[in-house]
Amino acid sequence: MNKTGIAVHGGAGTIRKSSMTPEKEISYKDGLREALLKGWEVLNKHGSALDAVEKTVQTLEDNPLFNAGKGSVFTNEGRHSMDASIMDGKNLDAGCVSSVSNIKNPVLLARKIMDHSGFVFLSGKGAEEFARIHGLEFENDEYFFNEFRYQQYQKALKENKYQLDHSEDSPADISPDLTDEKKFGTVGAVALDSYGNLAACTSTGGMTNTKYGRIGDTPLIGAGTYANNNTCAVSCTGDGEFFIRTVAAFNVSSLMELKDLSIYDACNEIVHGKLKNIGGEGGLIAIDKKGNIVLSFNSEGMYRAYTKNGKDIEIKIYKD
Ligand code: ASP
Repeated sequence: MNKTGIAVHGGAGTIRKSSMTPEKEISYKDGLREALLKGWEVLNKHGSALDAVEKTVQTLEDNPLFNAGKGSVFTNEGRHSMDASIMDGKNLDAGCVSSVSNIKNPVLLARKIMDHSGFVFLSGKGAEEFARIHGLEFENDEYFFNEFRYQQYQKALKENKYQLDHSEDSPADISPDLTDEKKFGTVGAVALDSYGNLAACTSTGGMTNTKYGRIGDTPLIGAGTYANNNTCAVSCTGDGEFFIRTVAAFNVSSLMELKDLSIYDACNEIVHGKLKNIGGEGGLIAIDKKGNIVLSFNSEGMYRAYTKNGKDIEIKIYKD
């Protein structure tokens, strides 16, 4: 079998060991492992990188620990507004969706948009209508309700501020879980299949208490997600505005294609150079056509995992 590999992230940010219970750490790691292996199974059966990343992200969307799908945070109106994107490095096909509610798995909708809409990017009610026509699963508000997220939302409402999943300066009156992290809980995956194809996808519930229809980098091809068989596949997490302004995911690919940088140097240049220079916090995962994998971040931690053979699995949360 030719070289294959898959990597996953579950968000980056101020993730400190001191604020993590051993049980919580195990749950996060179990969630990452389960999702990674779901994607790996696809690759191992000579499935496509596209199917593998879709499966991995779908699994994370079903896990309430992560800010995507079931675990999505609350908007200012007390709703869930989800974004996702997927890209095939083989032919640069892409599907993106933003500002949808009650869709069980936004990543499946992004894929359907890519395969069946004739468009690249659908949003809001129109995207939901498309989802209904194509038989995607809907869930009621109860499915997405989570007491932890609700408390985050109430706190953000009271303070009249937006919050990227968890916020560093949340006071201690809710729960210790909410007080000491600035965490971007978006999820994403990148993969290389046995045919040499690369793919990437990313999914998020956005920001707590977000208003005015704000959309981050996650559903934007080039900002939060990018894949090109000639270079790499990338999925990002962090301060979306900065990832949009630096066109982060596409820039990694461009540095490889036009400047002949290695995947390591290209990721480094974006994460520790371009993003950091303008104050952007977060990270990204990337894989190139040779199967080199980079998991890079400029925040305190990033939920992340990868495997190249399905057996040796590396799962990490903090800096080494
Ligand atoms: N990048 C996402 C956004 O700005 C947030 C995240 O990564 O958690 O919406």
